[in-house]
Amino acid sequence: MSRQGNLLDKLQTRARVVANRLSDQHVKLAVTGLSGAGKTAFITSLINQLMEGASTSSLPFFSVCKQSRFIGAKRAVQPDLRLARFEYEQAMEMLRGNPPAWPVPTRGVSQIRLHLRYYPGSGLRKLVSNRSTLILDILDYPGEWLLDLPLLDMNFAQWTLYCQQQMQGSIRQELSRTLREQASKLDWLAPGDELQLQKLAECFRQYLRDCKEAGLELIQPGRFVLPGELEGAPILQFIPALGLPGGFDWQQVPIGSNLSLAMDRYNQYRDKVIKPFYRAYFRDFDRQIVLVDCLSALNKGPEAFNELQQAINWILQSFHYGGNSLIRRLFSPRIDKLVFAASKADHITADQQDNLIRLLESMIHEARQTIHYEGVSIQTTALAAIRASQSGKADYQGKTLSVLTGHDKQGQPLTLYPGDVPVGRPSPAFWSTQGFDFPQFSPQSSTELSALPHIRMDQMLEFLLGDKLR
Ligand code: GDP
Repeated sequence: MSRQGNLLDKLQTRARVVANRLSDQHVKLAVTGLSGAGKTAFITSLINQLMEGASTSSLPFFSVCKQSRFIGAKRAVQPDLRLARFEYEQAMEMLRGNPPAWPVPTRGVSQIRLHLRYYPGSGLRKLVSNRSTLILDILDYPGEWLLDLPLLDMNFAQWTLYCQQQMQGSIRQELSRTLREQASKLDWLAPGDELQLQKLAECFRQYLRDCKEAGLELIQPGRFVLPGELEGAPILQFIPALGLPGGFDWQQVPIGSNLSLAMDRYNQYRDKVIKPFYRAYFRDFDRQIVLVDCLSALNKGPEAFNELQQAINWILQSFHYGGNSLIRRLFSPRIDKLVFAASKADHITADQQDNLIRLLESMIHEARQTIHYEGVSIQTTALAAIRASQSGKADYQGKTLSVLTGHDKQGQPLTLYPGDVPVGRPSPAFWSTQGFDFPQFSPQSSTELSALPHIRMDQMLEFLLGDKLR
């Protein structure tokens, strides 16, 4: 072959490599939130919107759809076969059942990969190829695991003190009674008894589960309620040293005692569970959405609301990358977009949606400024992954009111005005005179031909993926 032919060949190969690089891209999106925040419903809807988005007009603010450039989404083999598969088909079966039901929530880490095919709209990508693929990996993990991050900054003695103080709150005091009684019978300085520690750890887990049931959100260590693959492992068999005599000298922990056993397990939990979790997953995310169920916390009262606020502060630490932050010490993160979304926005009327966003913004206000400063682009929004209510108007005592209609958990028709959403933390006086009573709905019947009804999923998609689908 002539020299010119050779050169041409090389140039063509090079152009093909560049074209492939430009046409195939990859985004790793992580979805989290505390249990019940709506992760399963959200991922189900996200997949559904992308699968159906090309054929329906349900995503008006998602520019690739608005500009008719979206070809479609297809499920592909997930990249990490050690992780549970996100059960999209089962979730859709439940939502399309008769009667429709909410999908069974995921409990650990799960994953799904989608290939999104589209026509490039502009730029080099449009010049080199007429169709492109964006590979989207969605990873779902429990927000409870993020609440473990502050434990890395507490040694066992500090953690014990922290738990004791926490148990002074009125709800926790009551719920921890049995645990405290049982722990006070343990001789912490006697030779270590694994069986006794195991029983106490079970009592501790029950206490944490009861706290969750009562609407409290600061549930730590996270694996005690959502153990994932660690169910039954001794690394989860420890408790704070409740009932240890006051003024104990922590320098004098007897070797081989119950106390040293519990301390050792606590330290191992930090080194072998918390740190690897951040290293294994966090390092890889490009984008993150955190779902927050503000309305249920308002329903459950001031203690639950305050704990949600505290939980948000702690979760935010996981995205605080600056200077000598805990995260920076563990690895170099690379998240460039972060969405905080108040979930289940269909539990309130349209005129209250802005208030819900402002409430969430007020809850993350301080940390938000720091994160923005670190170069992560953040959005706060309110959405309903799967809208289960409809907005309407009703006349009441000569006035026209915004109301919601839908079906309650038992499937009975419901029409109501759920009330106003506060734009910030309600005052103590407010809690004592009136509370909140936002409703819960069963999902609406939907057909296979239509995408799931939602509120603002398209705006969220535009923020998280819009730039990758240009
Ligand atoms: P997870 O534990 O974070 O995965 O939470 P789920 O996705 O399982 O949601 C918990 C419950 O919240 C569901 O069973 C529904 O009752 C409710 N829910 C979740 N998302 C929505 C939504 O968009 N609208 C309404 N009305 N309810 C929702």
